[in-house]
Amino acid sequence: MVRQAWETHRLEELEPGVLRVTLPLPTGPRHVHCYLLRGEDGWLLVDTGLGLQETPWEEILAGLDGEVTQIFITHMHPDHVGGAEAAAAATGAPVVQGRLDYAQCERVWGSGDWPERIADWFTRNGVPREVSDELIESGHVFADFVRFAWNPALVEPGDIVAGWHVLGTPGHADGHLSLNRGDVLIAGDTLLTPITPAIGLYPESRPDPLGDYIETLAALAEVAPRVSYGGHGRAVTSPASRCREILAHHEERLERTAAALGREPRTGYEVSHDLFGRELAPIQRRFAVAEALSHLERLVVLGRAGRRSGDRGVAYTAPSSGGRAPL
Ligand SMILES: [Zn+2]
Repeated sequence: MVRQAWETHRLEELEPGVLRVTLPLPTGPRHVHCYLLRGEDGWLLVDTGLGLQETPWEEILAGLDGEVTQIFITHMHPDHVGGAEAAAAATGAPVVQGRLDYAQCERVWGSGDWPERIADWFTRNGVPREVSDELIESGHVFADFVRFAWNPALVEPGDIVAGWHVLGTPGHADGHLSLNRGDVLIAGDTLLTPITPAIGLYPESRPDPLGDYIETLAALAEVAPRVSYGGHGRAVTSPASRCREILAHHEERLERTAAALGREPRTGYEVSHDLFGRELAPIQRRFAVAEALSHLERLVVLGRAGRRSGDRGVAYTAPSSGGRAPL
């Protein structure tokens, strides 16, 4: 795909009643997909891009044969929730967000000290001070891109929004929600191709996000939709087999994580070098450490690793050396 094509938004009809709006991102996969779904009394906009970019919502929505009557947020990451305030202002439509997801959204983006809180937590997981200082800075830059909508209508898994069933699909984010109608899944960042969703452990979050995600993938393989449309990359045309591929990918990464452990306690930061290499920019190191920790915590749950937590921080060992003594 030509980079040029992502420079401005694109609106495509994927199938009757399902449109895709692609917006540019300054980093990472360089684009994010939002969706417009025909609902009972208008269009449901799913996800909103970043908040500081001049997303031309009026221009995008002028091509529709009806109004946007609701805005649904799959999860609280900047490229999905960041533009919610602007989209709500452009459409006049209410924002709908998961109860747990909104609670975390407020805690992370609605408080000024999150970058410091998360940097302290990374330090406890072995990240050197100078690297976590850079994390604080990049965290503040991210926060500038997030303009979420305060006090949205709150929904839970099992609810129905504009004729679409709300599925709880935790893992990539604790409160991640997807939408299902008939044989179509709108998956947010739960099911992607060709990239695999990042599954990281973060402070003040659920303790075993990889365990959550493995359950989510097993459940989605059972739902077995015909097609799944995600937040980045291509449509997934055989979702059940993509679920199995991603499960195998994490199995393999769990093996590599277990192989990185021995008798000497090692931090998540150290293990991230085994898994993702030494040469990473601070923002990528942040994801690498969070991802290493989600795999380490999964191994602890499985009895395949020990965790030592003390004044000097958190570190992991192979299980045979025992996991309870303070550092
Ligand atoms: Zn995400």
